[in-house]
Amino acid sequence: MSSSVLFGTYARSDLAFVKGEGCWLETADGRRFLDFAAGIAVNSLGHSHPHLVSVVQEQAAKLWHVSNLYTIPEQGRLAARLCEATFADRVFFTNSGGEAMEACIKAARRYHYGKGAPDRYDIITFEGAFHGRTLGTIAAGGKDKYLEGFGPKAPGFTQVPFDDLKALKAAINETTAAILIEPIQGEGGIRPVPHEFLRDLCDVHGLLLIFDEVQTGVGRTGRFFAHEWSGVTPDLMGIAKGIGGGFPMGACLATEEASACMVPGTHGSTFGGNPLAMAVGNAVLDIVLDDGFIETVARKGLVLKQKIASVVDSHPDVFETVRGEGLMLGIKCRANVGAVVIEGREQGFLSVPAGDNVMRILPPLTVTDEEIDEAVKRLDATAVAMEKTLEAGASA
Ligand SMILES: *Cc1c(COP(=O)(O)O)cnc(C)c1O
Repeated sequence: MSSSVLFGTYARSDLAFVKGEGCWLETADGRRFLDFAAGIAVNSLGHSHPHLVSVVQEQAAKLWHVSNLYTIPEQGRLAARLCEATFADRVFFTNSGGEAMEACIKAARRYHYGKGAPDRYDIITFEGAFHGRTLGTIAAGGKDKYLEGFGPKAPGFTQVPFDDLKALKAAINETTAAILIEPIQGEGGIRPVPHEFLRDLCDVHGLLLIFDEVQTGVGRTGRFFAHEWSGVTPDLMGIAKGIGGGFPMGACLATEEASACMVPGTHGSTFGGNPLAMAVGNAVLDIVLDDGFIETVARKGLVLKQKIASVVDSHPDVFETVRGEGLMLGIKCRANVGAVVIEGREQGFLSVPAGDNVMRILPPLTVTDEEIDEAVKRLDATAVAMEKTLEAGASA
């Protein structure tokens, strides 16, 4: 296959999809898969959502790209809607989550620079974090596997153990600029990061609080943003994945104060915030911010979690527990999660492996109750097949 001309950065499955509709993906030979991976929390409105399709078609016929040297009205509109619905006063648009996080990191450092403290550039992160694959964000994520072989780790990041307040406090010193967390770790295995106390801690030490809501954001957890569950607001926040509904885009959201030093020349992006991307972002918000949509996500999340919990209980050799919020769920597996995800595909069910041996369940936010029932059936069939494999392995 022609994939041999690609970088070998992914251990790809042979599955190739040619069509998508709602929660379903189809291969060329007509096999249908229930997509509870959603492009890793990207296809927030499922595949080929009619509103997104018509908005993209309309915008594509009108204007794709102009430089940020000009005023882009749709950018102002999307930014205003994001600010209206969140803590933020200012927005910078990017093309990806990694770039959104880079913008957060740069804004945090620049904030202290602007206050006459250029040596305050260090950002504290937590073990298990994932913030992207740029040289800066792999340093922030701190995972050896992603850093190995890429030269010196970018300085300015300190990592503390997960859920260890003492270690966190001990890590704060005169070089600390900010604390960066995902309210619920995604790649790390759907692990909620306790953060209720972080606002006070940051205020006491003059630090900025940065949330990475690239995966948790835009309705995924049953709130517009996951931090709304705790009521703790950040100074800076990176978003991406769900806001584009499949179109590559992201953003850095900031308070007035945290963005005040990002003046002309300090940062930029050729593609970020172009009219095509902005049309899509606005179209996603048309649906997600519509009355009752996010409440419905929360309700469906509870239903799905309960139903998964009973599958988990019936298959203790395969599954251990279910956790997560809204439609961002994780099943901690007893069997190897990679094998479970691959068996799921055999059963026409798509999910995503994560750290801590967790199977991520991330359906489109538009999933129906019928599709939830179908998913639970396929998850159960996956567990039954896994049990057979485990038994055969044990008796061999
Ligand atoms: C996916 C992800 C990123 C990186 O986003 P890219 O678009 O791949 O650069 C950063 N942070 C979190 C929490 C993510 O889930």
